Amino acid sequence: MTDRLTRCLARRAADKAPALRLVIAETTELCAHACGLHHLSPLASIAFSRALTAGTLLAALAKSERNINVQIAGDGPLGSVFVDADPKGTVRGYVSRNPALQPAPGIRPRVGYAFGDSGYVNVLRADASNNYFRGTVALKTGEIDDDITEYLVASEQVESVLAIDAVLDDRGRVVRAGGVLLQALPGDGEPLSLQDERDRLRAGVLYESLMQQGESWPGAITAAFQLERSVLEQSPLGWQCQCSDNRVMAALLATGIDELNDILAKEAKAEIRCDFCTKEYLFDRDQLLKLRDLAVSAALSHRDKDDHGDN
Ligand SMILES: [Zn+2]
Repeated sequence: MTDRLTRCLARRAADKAPALRLVIAETTELCAHACGLHHLSPLASIAFSRALTAGTLLAALAKSERNINVQIAGDGPLGSVFVDADPKGTVRGYVSRNPALQPAPGIRPRVGYAFGDSGYVNVLRADASNNYFRGTVALKTGEIDDDITEYLVASEQVESVLAIDAVLDDRGRVVRAGGVLLQALPGDGEPLSLQDERDRLRAGVLYESLMQQGESWPGAITAAFQLERSVLEQSPLGWQCQCSDNRVMAALLATGIDELNDILAKEAKAEIRCDFCTKEYLFDRDQLLKLRDLAVSAALSHRDKDDHGDN
């Protein structure tokens, strides 16, 4: 089955009307593809899958069409994980390091120890007017979903709970990945508490569903919480990188005349690897000379404009 995002309204048995937003991300294929592409260890695969899934869920809350960036960084051997998610459903990312470590055993595999003793979650999002704003919270457990729940409660002041997990096979490959986000809808009455759902998710109910229920895990989660859900929208999710010859060339051009001259003098070629999709871009001497000439003429025309501006 292909990956998808399902947006729902949900109602507890005791509620008269739907009081919850429920978003379900099924991300097995994109996580398996991404972890394979980056040849990740079991520990890094779980951390990366959780971060990618978190990106799709945060992008589902986006108020604009701009991408959302999530960075989880610590002082431990895993370094940092970066995710770039498009509200239209594509996501990409990378891990800064890929330590050959195993997740720590627990109710569910734990990766927090590999982020170290201190770290942060940094989220860059745009508001409805496309103005970017950044929110940062200290890492709480390093299990990523706990940390992003903290971020959501702190930044949005909305009662929220996020749970994400990935299940690996004996060879360390992702066989199931997904996440759920529950948020209280604004209402007139007492602020709704999601403490019960939070406690049960922390006790591993999502990981168990992913392990035991196969593709039908979203239904199992909804049933476990005795929620009635009505689906508002379903849309595909997928891994996609936005790099291209033109973008890489623009980045190389932006390094400036001196840097381009330096490359020409030393190597006479440039090899640039995309951090996200690992694609290699090669530029030979002729292409570098053209780029250098472009940089020179851009600098000259800039100087001419400045000269005219002075007169
Ligand atoms: Zn790329």
